[in-house]
Order: sequence, then C-alpha cells, then structure tokens
Amino acid sequence: MAQHFLLSPAAKTLSLVKIMRMSDDQARKAFQAIRWADTDGDPVCPECGGVEHYNIKTRPVWKCKACAKQFSVTSGTIFHSRKLAVRDILAAIAVFINGAKGYSALQLSRDLSIDYKTAFVLLHKVREAISVARDHGALSGDVEVDGAYFGGYVKPANEIQDRKDRRRKAHQSGKRQVVIAVRQRDGSTITHVGQNEAEGVALVAANVQRGTTVHADEASHDRHSPSHRREIP
Ligand SMILES: [Zn+2]
Repeated sequence: MAQHFLLSPAAKTLSLVKIMRMSDDQARKAFQAIRWADTDGDPVCPECGGVEHYNIKTRPVWKCKACAKQFSVTSGTIFHSRKLAVRDILAAIAVFINGAKGYSALQLSRDLSIDYKTAFVLLHKVREAISVARDHGALSGDVEVDGAYFGGYVKPANEIQDRKDRRRKAHQSGKRQVVIAVRQRDGSTITHVGQNEAEGVALVAANVQRGTTVHADEASHDRHSPSHRREIP
C-alpha cells in the first residue's frame, strides 16, 4: 500500500531551517518532489491523472493536456489556497512531522510572520491530513468504486412494487444521497456521502495510487436502473 505523501521519507526529512531559507520557486519544487514522488516531482493532473501538461508562463500553474484543467502544486490537496505561500505550508508540515512537541500555532505564526489564525488553520490541516492518511493509506492494486443511493426512507421491504414507489417518492423529496465506496480488493474501503456519484471521481483521485486499476460498477452510474444498483453494506 502506498503512503500518503505526508508520510513519505521525503516529507519526514523536511528541515524547518532549510524551508525558511527557500525561495518561492524552491519551495514549490520541494513540495512537488514530496507530492509527486512517483514521477520524481513531475506534475500529475489531480483531475484526471494525466502526466502531460503545458506550462503557464505567467503563473506557477500547469494546464493538463488531457483534460485542459489548470492546476498548481497544491491543487487537489487540502492545502490548496490562494492566500497561503507554499513555503509556509511546507514549514507547517515540517513542524508537525518532526514532532516538535509544544511547537504552537503562536510560535509558527512568529517564525513565518503570518497571522495566528493562518498558522492555527495550517497546523490543523496538517494534523487532519496525517490522521486521515494514517487511517486509510492510499489504495492500490484492484480498486472497485461503487455507489448506492439512499433517500430519507426506511430500507424498503422485499415487495418489488412497493420498492419502486418508495424510490420514486425518495427521488422527488430531494433528500436522496449517494454513498460512494472506493474499495481495495482485500484491503480497506473509503466511503463518502454526497449528492451525486460524480463526487466519487474526486474521491478516487484523492485516494487511489497512480497505475491502479479502477473497476466501476457501470449500473451504479445509471440512476434509472435501480435493479442493478448495489447497496453498500
Ligand atoms: Zn487532467
């Protein structure tokens, strides 16, 4: 199972002192190397996984040749923000990963010359990302994606006619939700509750290692064929 980039050796050897001395460009390169270790730091489109891209000259972003989406080094991660400097994000990661106990948001805000609230949010995000990564890890190998719709109703009885009626009602109520499960065969499962199955694409992009075979249950993407839907246990 692949490691989340925050748990990688590259992230663990980040030095706060080195980071503080980095230029914006160097910081972005360092973040690239950690985030996209599989490609030696070459950008990978967070939308479609494409590795071919155009460089945008005026800003530090790339444009995916496959899906035309523009993305930066932090796109698709919880660190994505127009306001945060990549160097500050790296510093927060270093502080947290090096386990500098007692290193507070206040200290970080002083060291980076950023306001307290920003430092607090940054540390919180790192903590959240790492705990999620430790819980799940990235899925790899054979991964299945499955979705099931639920309305705000009690699980239907076995009677077929009754089920159809209830489903129609649930559909009209606007309270339908979809539970998407991304499951590694013989491995862990990540679930997400959302409004539509398109959200599953983002879930896969965020949690599945490159080169993974993703099997989608075709029928589950057709909301008009309830007989083929599967429910997530
Ligand atoms: Zn793309």
